[in-house]
Formats: sequence, structure tokens, C-alpha cells
Amino acid sequence: MIVVSSPEQAEALLDAGQLGCPGCSGTLRPHGYGRVRRVRSLGGEPVTVRPRRARCFSCAATHVLLPAGLVLRRADTTEVIGTALAAKARGDGHRTIAAQLDRPVSTVRRWLRRAREPHAGWLHQQSVQHAYRADPDLLNRELVWPTTLGDALNLLAGAALACQKRWDCPLPAWTLIGMFTRGRLLPPPLRT
Ligand SMILES: [Zn+2]
Repeated sequence: MIVVSSPEQAEALLDAGQLGCPGCSGTLRPHGYGRVRRVRSLGGEPVTVRPRRARCFSCAATHVLLPAGLVLRRADTTEVIGTALAAKARGDGHRTIAAQLDRPVSTVRRWLRRAREPHAGWLHQQSVQHAYRADPDLLNRELVWPTTLGDALNLLAGAALACQKRWDCPLPAWTLIGMFTRGRLLPPPLRT
């Protein structure tokens, strides 16, 4: 799986032969599509998405190109899940968050459980790396959030804003955060 900023960017890179295989030095070519998925966005109607698949010219491995606005194997966008995690970091409970987002309580409770350790620690590592790259001053701060999750989200948001400013990047903050976390703002659901 490779995270791309948008489906349009994925097509453009594939057409131009500019997408490298993560497994070897080969070039990826278009290779059909992944499974059709229904994804719910913030306050909008569910949309149907079909992530692009690509195949390596050299090693023949196939890869799904996941737009960064989506979270790996989740039916809600990065923005929806990120909004829930940010509310949790501010101290809201799963029932309140479920009501705010109009999602089932059980779904939100599952998300919040999966955002605990060890995932919160992993998110924090990504946040420090990306904050350092975007603007090292983000790490020179006196105020640190009381929870690992809160601190990670704060740094990720800071890194996204710094990227937007520094490189005049038009991508929304949650899309950038999806790229920083490589489609894993939450870990994929446990298989049952
Ligand atoms: Zn390859």
C-alpha cells in the first residue's frame, strides 16, 4: 500500500512513470482498481471510492494507492477519525463524540480504544519526525499536552500548517496528516 495525496495525483504519477516500487527500484504502472468502498466524510453523504492499483514493472508486486484523505480499511475519512481523536484528546467521551459526528457509539468507542498505546506512541513518533522536518521550532515548546495522543495530534497539526505555509501546499491539513501517518491515523481494524 502506498499513500498518495489524491486520486488525481496518483493518476498523474502513474502516467508519468514517476511512482517507484517500495519493494525494488522498479517503476509502477496502472493495474486496475482495488475494491469499491463506501466512505463517510464529515457531514457529507457517503462517497464511493475505488483506490487505484499499480503493478511493478520489475518485480511484479501489486500495490494499492490509498488517497491520504482515507484511513486504511476504515469506512470514515481521515478528517472524521481525526476529529474524533482530537475531541478525545480534549477530554470528550465516546458518547459525546458519537453524537457530534453522528456515528454509532460502538464505532467511536472502537476507534478510541485503538488509539491508545501502543498506537498513541507510534503516532507521537511520526508527529515528532514530521514536525522536525516542517519546522523544528514546533518542538521547542513549553506547553506539552498532558496525553501522548493529544501531544501527537498537536504536533501533526503544527507540521501540517507549517507545510502549507512553507511550501505553499494546497492540501487540506487532514490530508497532510494522512500522509504523515501513512494511512494509519488509526491502525487497521483487527480481523475477526
Ligand atoms: Zn518492484
